[in-house]
Amino acid sequence: MAGIEVRVDSSWAVIALLITYSMYLWASIVYPELSGAGAVGLAILATVLFFGSVLVHELAHALVSQARGIRVQDITLFLFGGATRARVESRGPGDEFLITVVGPLTSLLLAGLFGLVNLAGRDVLPTPLVGTLGYLAWVNLVLGVFNLVPGFPLDGGRLLRSAIWKATGSLQRATRVASVAGQGVGWLLVAAGVASLLAGNLAGGIWFAFIGWFLVQAARSSYQELQLRDLLRGVEAEEVMARNLLRIPPDLSLQDAVDDYFMRYDHGAFPVEEQGRTIGLLTLRGIRRVPREQWPTRWVRELMVPLGDQVLVGPDARMDGVLGKLEDSDANRVLVVQGGEVVGIITPTDLTRWLRRWRALDRSAR
Ligand SMILES: [Zn+2]
Repeated sequence: MAGIEVRVDSSWAVIALLITYSMYLWASIVYPELSGAGAVGLAILATVLFFGSVLVHELAHALVSQARGIRVQDITLFLFGGATRARVESRGPGDEFLITVVGPLTSLLLAGLFGLVNLAGRDVLPTPLVGTLGYLAWVNLVLGVFNLVPGFPLDGGRLLRSAIWKATGSLQRATRVASVAGQGVGWLLVAAGVASLLAGNLAGGIWFAFIGWFLVQAARSSYQELQLRDLLRGVEAEEVMARNLLRIPPDLSLQDAVDDYFMRYDHGAFPVEEQGRTIGLLTLRGIRRVPREQWPTRWVRELMVPLGDQVLVGPDARMDGVLGKLEDSDANRVLVVQGGEVVGIITPTDLTRWLRRWRALDRSAR
């Protein structure tokens, strides 16, 4: 939508079914005059508008982010609502504030709109439809207000973070405070969930505890991610990259490339070298696009990707920047180039391996 990839996580199916079912129960109890099919139809309409509202909230974040020149990776709908992936903190507290605040504002605006249609349609539209619109006004109000709770990574937590960031000039400190607040809010929700469970509200209790636990985990992991970036700031690409790469000659058939390279070594890509110079990169993903029966008659040279189309960094590039490039690029791979020659490749696997070693050594050093 609007050039932004919208994904639906498989966990979303669970919540979509649950909400449709509870809306069906609600419709058949509140409007006993509805037929079974009528109640199901109303439930589906309410669910579609509900997730439509969540999507519009996320789209607001995404569109403002793009307008501020920050690339949006995608929007994902999942069990707990929606998430927009963009490196919002890459620009500064002002942009983070702006991109964040439009989400809850959009939800509040939607609440107002649904409320208005609900009021205006009171005497015109069928009663069940009016009731559904009123319900959606409430849902959007709750979405807007809940998202303003100041616990990272909720929108309110992001707003808190950008304010502290602006005041102190330290993203690190701001994230720590917002993350601790997020964990606090999460634990409060867990406690509220358990209390409501003990009071006999089974479904609501479990749901609150669940959301709370999710928030605690999300707050913790976003702080850990920041710590990781901090650690990587002091590391150069050269230290992490896979080196001593095997080279493929360009005049090899794809079949031979598969047999002698891809099936033998644990790499997803090999540099192609001609007369001592790297001229491109042959990837497993590229080979998979060619039907198997053509492998003996197609050549590495025609299928390789020119170096110019790859993400390139120098050996002394800081790894926090490389991490950003890895996340941004669809290829999932960064080539380390020195004097026009590929001297190494960094994939997420290489980075994970390096981190595992680093942690093991760090622990033993203490
Ligand atoms: Zn939001």
